Amino acid sequence: MSSALSRRNILKLAGGSALGFLLSPMPWKMLDDISIWTQNWSWIPKLRRGPVTHKYTSCTLCPNACRVNARMISETPVSLWGAPDPCVGHSYLCSVGLAGHHLAYHPSRVRNAHRFTATENGISSEQLSVEDAIAHIAKILHNIHVRPEEGEFALFDCRPHGMVSDIQQIFLSHVPGARYIVPDNHEGRFMRALMEMTEDPGQSYGLDFSRTRTLLSFGVSLFEGWGISPLVVEQFRSRREEFNIIQIDHHQSSSSIVADTHIAIKPGTEMALALGLAHVIVGERLYDPASAARAVDLKRNKPFSFMDLTRRFPPGRVASVTGIPEDVIVRTAREFASNRPATAIADDFAPAELIHSVWILNHLVGATGKNGSVVQKRPLPQPWKGAHRTPPTRLRNVPDHSLRLLMIDASAADTTVSWPDLRRKMRAENATIVLCSPYRPKRGESVDYLIPIHAPYETVRANPSGEYVATSAFQISTPLWSKSEEGCETWQILQRVVSASDAMTKEEFAQLEPEELLRLQCDAIFNSKRGTIHHPNNDETIPLGSVLSSGDFYATLMEGAAWSDDGVATSTNGRLFLMGKSTSSAQRFAESVLAFDNAGIDSNPSFPLLVVPVGEDVAARFGHVSPILSKIYQESDLKPRSRFAYLHHETARRFKLAAEQRVIIHSPHGATEAIVRCDSSVRPDTVQLSVSQLDAISPTRPRIINSYGGRVYTDQPIFVRIERARS
Ligand code: SF4
Repeated sequence: MSSALSRRNILKLAGGSALGFLLSPMPWKMLDDISIWTQNWSWIPKLRRGPVTHKYTSCTLCPNACRVNARMISETPVSLWGAPDPCVGHSYLCSVGLAGHHLAYHPSRVRNAHRFTATENGISSEQLSVEDAIAHIAKILHNIHVRPEEGEFALFDCRPHGMVSDIQQIFLSHVPGARYIVPDNHEGRFMRALMEMTEDPGQSYGLDFSRTRTLLSFGVSLFEGWGISPLVVEQFRSRREEFNIIQIDHHQSSSSIVADTHIAIKPGTEMALALGLAHVIVGERLYDPASAARAVDLKRNKPFSFMDLTRRFPPGRVASVTGIPEDVIVRTAREFASNRPATAIADDFAPAELIHSVWILNHLVGATGKNGSVVQKRPLPQPWKGAHRTPPTRLRNVPDHSLRLLMIDASAADTTVSWPDLRRKMRAENATIVLCSPYRPKRGESVDYLIPIHAPYETVRANPSGEYVATSAFQISTPLWSKSEEGCETWQILQRVVSASDAMTKEEFAQLEPEELLRLQCDAIFNSKRGTIHHPNNDETIPLGSVLSSGDFYATLMEGAAWSDDGVATSTNGRLFLMGKSTSSAQRFAESVLAFDNAGIDSNPSFPLLVVPVGEDVAARFGHVSPILSKIYQESDLKPRSRFAYLHHETARRFKLAAEQRVIIHSPHGATEAIVRCDSSVRPDTVQLSVSQLDAISPTRPRIINSYGGRVYTDQPIFVRIERARS
């Protein structure tokens, strides 16, 4: 059976999963395997007989915070489903979220602290109590405190978002010299880029698709794992005829299969396409007159106005750069500008200049501050407004070899980070990395201490809405398992380490429990008197003002209800800066456009194929997925594996290669072996490789991985040639 299941089939299946039927056509072999595992794996919970009940909670595996309806038998969760959601209508769980209840029983799960030591024969691990581990780490922090020349102390927050990140920043502000490090790219980067182009200070924005007619997606994984995937799915189901999705993707993805139009683009040329579309919109005067009047640099600016820049991107030229026919470019621009409300979106992990260009398209068609497009919203009420916080430092801005002690908060499972990038920040000698995670470190994660924390659904967790929703929302992820005595949260470990080290200048938040933190957040929301509460049990929505006390509000949230804010009037009159609000950002954008204009993206005749790196680099991701999903990936070939090079049939013929043939892939910087797989969904001028193959052919190129979309961005295009391997 497995041989009949191609990657293309599974991509279709994955696209469909978002629509609620991922698991229905399950291959028989897989079912067979799973039934064998469920009988034999020691860590699978044994179900007792008992009543079937339902419990409402929310998923914390990524910032989407999807509402979850857990089917329980005898107090044990047996399956998870989406639940009604006040912000998006209904949550549809992604494949990772559907199996979220397996994670507490993952084979890599740890219950004890460990210390790892490098030996001649590899890494040896020694089990120790959490108290002993904390005492060792506190001693290191004490030494840093008295001898700062030994290096710095830092916390790496894998998902900087919400109340827990706030408290970590506040807590670190009492430790002299401590750093709070965040990933270079994380969720919401696309939305935050808007702040660099508008004059509305202190506002935040979300996306409202309830009336959107055209959604132009530059490589966003719309149906699974993106900030408001459930909302896209809901609109796709309920307004199928009028909700037009145009997906620009260099490879066939689950989104491109489901979209109304897939525009297959040459990788790395997306910014040229966005500017080409802008060229048509401006040239044919299809732009929104009110927005154009607000855009101060559309026609006049020094040294370049926006029109000066777009003149360099006429459709004929963009067609030759992107590989997209000229008539398709013109047609897409006209459709986007005329079939409004229209919104263009880009992946959070995409290059900054592409994100900027996509926002320009939104401004040109008047999407900002309009219902059905980009709407203003108020931030979540904060419990610690005005408290001093250690400001975040992006990983790339931390000086190399500066850290003596690094704690990693891996409670958010979705973050990807390049482990060599992280390691480079540590001092060459005596550096200590402490991983706070529910799971054993993966191969390649060279940590010194592991301290176990709670797995998803084992404890209460604050679960604020992600950056993309149209109004702020808050819910509590309540446990599905009875509370485990072993394990705590990373901020509690941080608190204990710092307290034991004498490094803290003030004993703040010293004795808080997770429930007390949640109560503080609930107080802040309750005191705002804004918004409504939605209870999934009876699908009823009531105003927050009708709740008598903050305690009642907390109790309702603990039963699975969700709070969402009132909307705000969305029209806005502030000035728009298409090139960027500050001189430096305008200059950066103009320089990157001109640099692309001059250099283009040309191959060297010796290396004629452009690499499309795709797939999740599991080694770079802190979180885990259910072993059953891993099995599905392996059986189905859904994730490109490091053994294979995927080519279009034409490309294979051109280079006299055949399917299943062993080949060597050469780049100017290295070579790797692979087996040819022919796939008509791959562009003829490209070769699709797994991200882990980049280590051999492009070891020094920085790369950014979006774990959910399986998309990988490199700072420069990588070109290769392929030769048959000598047998
Ligand atoms: S999209 Fe994120 S929050 Fe929603 S089910 Fe999937 S992992 Fe969970």
